[in-house]
Amino acid sequence: MTDSMSLHLTQPNADLGHMIARTPSGMAFWSGTGPGNTTCRECVFFDHQHSYYAKKGIGGGSLKPAKCKKFKALAQSSGGAVPHDTRSCKYFEPAPVPPPVVSK
Ligand code: SF4
Repeated sequence: MTDSMSLHLTQPNADLGHMIARTPSGMAFWSGTGPGNTTCRECVFFDHQHSYYAKKGIGGGSLKPAKCKKFKALAQSSGGAVPHDTRSCKYFEPAPVPPPVVSK
């Protein structure tokens, strides 16, 4: 049931609302603040060593979400797993060999 107070809630800052909406839990900073056209998959902090690929079929063998090692260093705790195709944040550093999107 909606109470009378929540009927009047609005997002006071639309830009902040967009950043919150596109930033998954576990990112080191806001999604979309990194270099253009880069994703977490391409970042050295994307912990794909502990990630894995979905089985081929419905999932298509694509790379599963992985934790961000930068988040862990900053927050001193591990956050949620970040989808590989999330737009990068300001802490982005290019990985020497990013994992492929789809398993071979
Ligand atoms: S761009 Fe890198 S540092 Fe930023 S959240 Fe993604 S994996 Fe973490």
